[in-house]
Order: sequence, then C-alpha cells, then structure tokens
Amino acid sequence: MKTDFDIIVIGGGINGSGIAREASGRGYSVALLEMNDLSSATSSWSTKLIHGGLRYMEQYNFRLVRESLVERENLMEIAPNIIRPLRFVMPHSAGLRPSWLIRLGLLIYDNIAPRRFLRSSRIVKLNKNTLGLPLQEEFKKGYEYSDCMVEDARLVVLNAMDANKYGAKIMTNTKVIKIIKNDFSWKIIAENKDQRSTKKIELTSKVLVNASGPWTNDLLSKINKTKDNDNNARLIKGSHIIVPRLYDHNKAYIFQNSDGRVIFTIPFEKEFSLIGTTDIPFKGNPLEAKISLEEINYLCESVSRYFKNRVFPEDVVWNYSGVRSLLDDGRKKAKDITRDYSIKSDYLNQKMCISIFGGKITTYRKLSEEVMKIIGKYLNKHSSNWTSKRSLPGGEFSPLDFQNLLKRYIQKYSFLDEQVVARLFHSYGKNIEKIIKNKNNTRDLGSHFGSGLYECEVSWLIENEWVKKAEDVLWRRTKLGLFLKKDQVKTLEKHINSKVLA
Ligand SMILES: Cc1cc2nc3c(=O)[nH]c(=O)nc-3n(C[C@H](O)[C@H](O)[C@H](O)COP(=O)(O)OP(=O)(O)OC[C@H]3O[C@@H](n4cnc5c(N)ncnc54)[C@H](O)[C@@H]3O)c2cc1C
Repeated sequence: MKTDFDIIVIGGGINGSGIAREASGRGYSVALLEMNDLSSATSSWSTKLIHGGLRYMEQYNFRLVRESLVERENLMEIAPNIIRPLRFVMPHSAGLRPSWLIRLGLLIYDNIAPRRFLRSSRIVKLNKNTLGLPLQEEFKKGYEYSDCMVEDARLVVLNAMDANKYGAKIMTNTKVIKIIKNDFSWKIIAENKDQRSTKKIELTSKVLVNASGPWTNDLLSKINKTKDNDNNARLIKGSHIIVPRLYDHNKAYIFQNSDGRVIFTIPFEKEFSLIGTTDIPFKGNPLEAKISLEEINYLCESVSRYFKNRVFPEDVVWNYSGVRSLLDDGRKKAKDITRDYSIKSDYLNQKMCISIFGGKITTYRKLSEEVMKIIGKYLNKHSSNWTSKRSLPGGEFSPLDFQNLLKRYIQKYSFLDEQVVARLFHSYGKNIEKIIKNKNNTRDLGSHFGSGLYECEVSWLIENEWVKKAEDVLWRRTKLGLFLKKDQVKTLEKHINSKVLA
C-alpha cells in the first residue's frame, strides 16, 4: 500500500522531534505536524535540567535514574553548546532527610552510570564557604553534586533541524483535526495556518505517532472516536517564577521542602534566578495553564526558609507553567506519580498507532530508540541506533573544548560585545559562523532590534528554524523577551511579518 509517508508524528515537542530525527536518519519517510510553534508547549516550560533526578531514587526507580544519567552524558556530547554542567548545592536540613541517606544517595548517583565529563559529589562546609553566604546561618553543612542545564526549546528545534536534514517534512502551525482509519493506512486531516490563510491538508501514513504531550488523550479520542476515554494520562501542572538574581555565584541550590518535594533555584539568563517547581493536578486546555497566587506564595515561602534575604511575590519578573501528561499509575499525590515514559502501541488492520505517555526531556532520545524498535519490527525494517553518536546542528565539538572555542569566537568577533558572542555560541554552537559569516562590523549584521539581537540572527531563524512570529524568537529560540522593550518587540514583529509574508 503506497502512502505519503511511512510515519506521521503528531506533536513538535521534544518527543515528537526526537522521534522524527531518529526515524528519518534510519531512512524512513517522516512528516512531523505541530499545531503551533515547535516546543510551544511542555517542552519549553520545564525546569531545564538534564538530570537523573535524585528524588526518583526515593521511589526506587533506579532504572529511570540510570537511564537518565547515561543520557546526560550522551546529550552533553551531541549538544555541548546548549547542555552545560551545573553544580547543585543541597543544604542539610535538620529534621528532614538524614545525612547518611543523602550521602548514600549521592554515592549511588555518582556511580550508577559511567561519567566522563562531570565531577563527583562532595560535602561542603557552608559556614566556611562562599556557597553558604546567601543562606541563613543555621545551614552549616551541605552537599554538592553535578547535573546539567539545557536550553529546552532549542533542543527541540535542533532535533527538528537534524530530522529535516535527513528528509523529514516539518510542518508547524499545522493542527491535526481528524484522523481517519483507511483499510491499510492512516489518513490525517490537518489545518495549516499562516498569517494570511488556513489551508486544509490530507496526508497518509503506515504508522501514526501520537506525541502530543498533554493532548495525548485528546488525540486518542480522535483515533478511537471515544468521548470519555480510558486513556489514562494524568495532567499535572508545574510552575516556575523568575526573580532578579539571588546570589553572585553560578551554582544552583536544591532545597528540601517539608512536604517531601524539592525546590530548585537556578542561575538564569545572567541577570535572573529561576525558581521551581510545583505539582498541581490540572484540567482544561494545557495552553491556558497559568501560575496561581498560591503557587507563587508556595515557591517564595519555600526558598525563603533557606535564604537570608526573603523572596517576595513582588520580586517576580516573569513566570511560566507547563503541563505534564503522566501515565496514571494509581498514586494519589502528583509528586509520587512516576516520571518514567510509557509507550503504547496498537495494531489496527495492518496499521500502527503509537502513543507516548509521560517521560522527561532527559530521556527523549532513549524513548525515540524504543519507538523505532517497535516500528522496525512492524515494518520489518532493521536499522541501528545512531543518534547518540552524531552531533546536533552546531554541536560538532567536545564538551571539553567549550571554553576554548568560546574564547576563539570572542576574539574572532571582537567587534561584538562578549556577552552577545557568548549568547550566540551557547545558542547556535559552531553555526554562529553561518550567522555572522565573514562580517567584521556591527553595521553589516543588519538592523539591531535590541539586546544584541541583529537582523542576521533573525534571518537565520526564519530560514532555518521555522520562526514565524516575534514570540518564537523572544521566548523559544532565545529568551530575549526578558530584555527587549515593548517598542523593540513591535519593530521585530513588523520585520518578521514582512519577511515571512514576502
Ligand atoms: C513544570 C515541568 C518541569 C519539568 N522539568 C523537567 C526537567 O527539568 N528535565 C526533564 O528532563 N524533564 C522535565 N519535565 C518533563 C518534560 O518537560 C516533558 O516530559 C516533555 O517536555 C514532554 O514533551 P512532549 O514532546 O511529550 O510534549 P510537548 O512538549 O507538550 O509537545 C506536544 C506537542 O504536541 C502538539 N500538539 C498537540 N495536539 C496537536 C494536534 N492536534 N496537532 C498538531 N500538534 C499537536 C502541541 O502543540 C505540543 O507542541 C518537566 C515538565 C514540567 C511540566
């Protein structure tokens, strides 16, 4: 049976774009359909950690922790510009987890998976170390360990770019509205919107991958024609607040809360600290998930128990909320439901549908390999895992060379502010050379929209990274939305409109 594609992936979050990359590099013909911008949902609203998750060891989920830590190394290697080491400091809190338990936990965390790039954990005397300075004096002892931070939305786009390089068709602003079961294939009806019009499109495939995150149940009900389906995804909202930088050093804190949860404070975009997160059951449209006053108070209170200077709701300069779709494992409390992924596959009259539940950004690549195992068996095509060995676009260097390369680019582009070069290198890796080309003064970079955002970068984003609106640039490809003024945003919006419609 001839179809337009072997595989249609619905959802351009981390799981959809990762699967599209994994599949297209193995020679499958793939289309990825995303109803808004790439990474416009959960995958850009995360805590931005590539981590094993110390907390999951308390749930005895050692498999997830090990797999995540193996992935931490793999991902650092394939995307060293957007995934960077970060040290976490955990002050010891009397009355919460005992010291021996934390030390044992960290010993396992250090050794449960091979480690090439990250330092091991250690005990810190907070009363004799600058790391203790921002903290209340009662916190005399703590622990320090390694994990990584990721530019989550860029990880999604880089996967989509690489998938596209191997032939995948990436269609953004394309919403799947109907799924029809033909005898031997799927027929997908979608609406593709641009600034001027909405077009209906029809595509067929042998395999359908439902990677629609918090819309997984919604898509399944389109497939199974059920209203109230038993497709057991549980929606949990998590929110973050951003406040002016809380301390001078570049490490993160992980604070134990008396409710058994942990709260992170993470250095964010040089001038800010990111604080998160919460776990609240959610109903409704995931795009309308918003932080509540209770969540803001909870986050401020939780960190104020540790810092000398209290954090107040009035300090919040930005916030965001994301919705996880977790596989309902019958646990009562949101914090206790597993963060592991689950893949459900159904064979329906010689066509296959795969749905993804749960998961973490950290494990998206492993999940993609697992999905390919299932599809390979079904289509009787054998191919090898490949995505842990090939760099994502711009990341063609070792994590160990990051600082040297950054120095080289700062020298090469000395006509630009160092901070701007650093941001460009962090975001685009070696593709910074394709953006700045051989220009040697700022005039040649085109219009300046503010905060080091030049026309040449915006052109790159439109031509290579599916940017259609100012918000795609300001809140996903970059976080310059935190810095640009209203009139600068308007100018950028106008510029992008004129280019996209040209
Ligand atoms: C608060 C919070 C913090 C987190 N922190 C971390 C962390 O630090 N580290 C970590 O590893 N993981 C973290 N996670 C988990 C991680 O963010 C998610 O597991 C991951 O982003 C899920 O990706 P996804 O691709 O499945 O879903 P999404 O990113 O939501 O993508 C699904 C996409 O499907 C699209 N879609 C839906 N319906 C349709 C349709 N009909 N047609 C076309 N497209 C459609 C949506 O627009 C969306 O873009 C966090 C999650 C939350 C909520």
